[in-house]
Amino acid sequence: MRCLALDIGGTKIASALVKNGLISQRRQISTPQQDAAEAMHHTLADILQQYQGQFEAVSVASTGIINNGVLTALNPKNLGGLAFFPLQESIARHTDKPIFLLNDVQAAACAEYQHQDKQAVENFVFITVSTGVGGGIIQNGKLLTQPNGVAGHIGHTLADPNGPICGCGRRGCVEAIASGRAIEAVSSQWEQPCTPKQVFEQFRSGKVQAVELVEKSAKTIANLVADLTIGLDTQKVVIGGSVGLAEGYLPLVQQYLAEMPHFYHCELEAAKYGGDAGLIGAAAWAEQHF
Ligand SMILES: [Zn+2]
Repeated sequence: MRCLALDIGGTKIASALVKNGLISQRRQISTPQQDAAEAMHHTLADILQQYQGQFEAVSVASTGIINNGVLTALNPKNLGGLAFFPLQESIARHTDKPIFLLNDVQAAACAEYQHQDKQAVENFVFITVSTGVGGGIIQNGKLLTQPNGVAGHIGHTLADPNGPICGCGRRGCVEAIASGRAIEAVSSQWEQPCTPKQVFEQFRSGKVQAVELVEKSAKTIANLVADLTIGLDTQKVVIGGSVGLAEGYLPLVQQYLAEMPHFYHCELEAAKYGGDAGLIGAAAWAEQHF
């Protein structure tokens, strides 16, 4: 099955044809910001026009939450003019092919799960530790998406009831402590302010305040993995994202997890896909449901 896959992010929209996990005719444009909803209708019309006659299904991985075909988010304000955008309906104006929609991290989980031995690993989680913290949960071999599209928002589970306020409005979420944005919130207040990239350079050279900050993030993610393992019988967790894949980070998560009682232990692996995880995963998801 040849799928037209789209990956809609906050700053860019990627599109490509995907067949048997192979990408062709990849294109990328900026996500409309001005008059975003109206511009998005036009952008989708253009994309569908460009690939017309070349696909049997359309599958979209998008930032935010897809609830009954409509784009939203835990905090819809973060989507600006695209809050409550009718994604399904907008695409259906231009094609009569089947349309599949899912969250971009859920799609990345599908992409990563393709490489697993599905007999051996039925309960699987992908976690991205990047600007934010997101996840996709595969349980009994199936991606959790329904009924409201929120499954996998594990960055918004509780890490510290006395922690900072999270972007979602709750206090002490994993994302508010472990994410790149959370690291920057602290390091930008240092006597010599640092970007997250500089924090990691200092972490690797052993500078104490950077080490403590990265350790706090890694410990929070290790606790998240432990909670998933004990709550869902998770057998393997794959970690991606700019923080998750930063040199030295995953071994630290592994170390904290190993210090816990053995019931909490779970196999950890680094993500294989980078920027194309959304496209590949969206196509894999469509393939399963075509
Ligand atoms: Zn939150």
